[in-house]
Amino acid sequence: MPPILQVALDTPLHRLFDYRLPDGLGAVQPGSLIEVPFGRTLQVGVALGQPTESSVQTDKLRDVIRVLDDRPALSPDILRLARFCADYYHYPLGAILLASLPPRLKNASPFVTDRPWLAVTEAGRMAAPPARARALRALLDALRTTPHSRENLRARKQSRHAAALVAAGWAAWSSVPPPAADAPRTAESPPATAEQQAALDALLPALGQFGVHLIHGVTGSGKTELYLRLIDAVLARGLQALVLIPEIALTPQLEQHFRRRFPGRRFTTLHSGLGEKERAENWLAAPDCDVLLGTRLSVFAPLPRLGLIVVDEEHDASFKQQDSLRYSARDVAIARGQQRGVPVVLGSATPSLESYAQALNGRYRLIELKQRAISQAQLPAIELVDLKHIPLDNGLTRPAVQALTETLARGEQSLVFLNRRGYAPALYCPSCAWVSPCPRCSARLVLHRAKAHSNQPHRLKCHHCGFETRIPPECPSCGNPDLKALGQGTQRLEETLAALLPAARIRRIDRDTMRPRAWAELGEAVHGGEIDILVGTQMLAKGHDFPNMTLALILDTDGALYSPDFRATERLFAQLMQVAGRAGRAGKPGRVLIQTAFPDHPLFRYLQRHDYSGYARALLAERRQLDLPPYTRQVLLRAEAPTMDAALAFLQHAGELAPETAGVSVFATTPAPMARVANLERAQLLVQSASRQALQAFVRDWRPQLDSIRPRVARWSLDVDPLVF
Ligand code: ADP
Ligand code: ZN
Ligand code: ZN
Repeated sequence: MPPILQVALDTPLHRLFDYRLPDGLGAVQPGSLIEVPFGRTLQVGVALGQPTESSVQTDKLRDVIRVLDDRPALSPDILRLARFCADYYHYPLGAILLASLPPRLKNASPFVTDRPWLAVTEAGRMAAPPARARALRALLDALRTTPHSRENLRARKQSRHAAALVAAGWAAWSSVPPPAADAPRTAESPPATAEQQAALDALLPALGQFGVHLIHGVTGSGKTELYLRLIDAVLARGLQALVLIPEIALTPQLEQHFRRRFPGRRFTTLHSGLGEKERAENWLAAPDCDVLLGTRLSVFAPLPRLGLIVVDEEHDASFKQQDSLRYSARDVAIARGQQRGVPVVLGSATPSLESYAQALNGRYRLIELKQRAISQAQLPAIELVDLKHIPLDNGLTRPAVQALTETLARGEQSLVFLNRRGYAPALYCPSCAWVSPCPRCSARLVLHRAKAHSNQPHRLKCHHCGFETRIPPECPSCGNPDLKALGQGTQRLEETLAALLPAARIRRIDRDTMRPRAWAELGEAVHGGEIDILVGTQMLAKGHDFPNMTLALILDTDGALYSPDFRATERLFAQLMQVAGRAGRAGKPGRVLIQTAFPDHPLFRYLQRHDYSGYARALLAERRQLDLPPYTRQVLLRAEAPTMDAALAFLQHAGELAPETAGVSVFATTPAPMARVANLERAQLLVQSASRQALQAFVRDWRPQLDSIRPRVARWSLDVDPLVF
């Protein structure tokens, strides 16, 4: 009987596939990428076990075509992590394994990567070649200082010694270049603050074993500095650090900061902003690097010497993928840390309630940094402008405009935060109350200026499905030609501010204006004092450190205060804390002004005291009382179909198939809050339990039954630990 190879393929089917392993291919190790015929096409798959028999008749088995040996096999720990994800998210193993690869490496065509650098390996660092092998010793010594290029070795007639070192496992060819010779000298780390020192005293002894550590530190308390010192300690042991950051274009900025700090170290990044080739190269370089900085997808990167995982801004929603494999990179990072026996450090000024609850109950270690690292940097004063008593003019109150004027007069910078991009959230007919509906979604079309600062006509755009159209000359419903912009978006706000403060240099930041590289340029413009007022959406709330920014103005947050989404206040509080954290970071007192019609809402009381933990505890008490996460676990079954009836009927059927499980509640089938997107009707069915094990066991029984539901008009997916409903 020919050897059989079990293969994971990128299909929606929850199964593996058997192939025949032809003689010529030799042994194939688990994790190898191979090419196989599948249906009428060829596919790249991942080799797994070699079972002794197959459920398929041997003569029906098809042959493996080839092993893609131009790329490394997935390592056993990645296979193990993918198995965890398959179990926990109830998602096909093959789809997970292939999704963990950079797209270019899923393509069977040869991928040639340059490996022009010879670098010392960990074994080589320790090795002591025999004294008589003088040339070998000299080369190894030289490599310990810096990698050498192939060309250079050839010119110095050292190619043969290089080959000998590689054969001994003391050196390896790599695509990661050595740090530039003119790299700035290590930016010396400032002496640790007392709080940082206390955190280090707790964390350094915890390196070398699994544990989750939550650093709750106010903005500017020096969390980044703390990560850098931990990484230092990990690198000193010859291990690697993985740093996960939110999905925004801050990578270049942080990357620069890290490179400065670790000039002698090898550094790589992984994020969706990279081109396909670069992403594949960086992934291939990951095993050789010292520090990998990346967004959620890098949680699956190959890191054989992993010694520390940091998840910065751990509360950020972008760690959760919202389609296909709906994983939380933070949670997968913790699973990986546990599997590898490596500590996981979560950091945030506003931890997620999930993480904070684990810290309060002692499962995670809580480390608090309550002071800003720069001693003169005070937390800003937060004032509320009561919209019940103070009128709005174009979205702005008089105190708000006055604060902007004064800040401008002092030569300081302001930030105006409005979480709605576009010109106005809708177009409105005053005579019949028509409000620009999207023809394909249950959403309003947003009014946009065609191009910033142009006088081109506005357009209507849907932020959910991308539908776009011209402004109708008259109301489509009653014929009234006098349609009005309803409410404020960032484009309109920019226009209003320009009219009110003609001397101010204003820059708008939102998804409409920001390309990835634009962040670095923006940072320079703000630091260089070329901008007086930054106007923008929540993108502004993240990560930047602008010393001369002394005023933050927050408009229109009230929608979130009484939203049906139970996470809305948690998110708003986090956002406001982060925005407030941008004001007054370097010794100048900061001021935050919030316009609201609900100044008595408890959220503001805690916000004014900068009391994250007070508000978090209050919200947690509420969640406990209402049986909401983190005190209960949820799984959401989502369905989409051309008609709402079909979507609901599918879920109804699914509900009937639900196995009777103690402690698991299956709720009623409901239309999704956004019921229609891109002409598909969406409905959902929530399942929850206080016990993760019970819920997991339930879904394990339930999921296979869902495959059998007919008719199959609905597309469906399971969302474990859903964040968005
Ligand atoms: P966070 O990440 O908590 O917002 P950062 O690590 O960015 O805070 O630090 C905020 C500011 O404080 C930065 O300008 C940083 O250089 C400075 N800083 C951090 N730690 C120290 C320290 N121990 N001594 C002096 N300055 C520090
Ligand atoms: Zn009308
Ligand atoms: Zn739409």
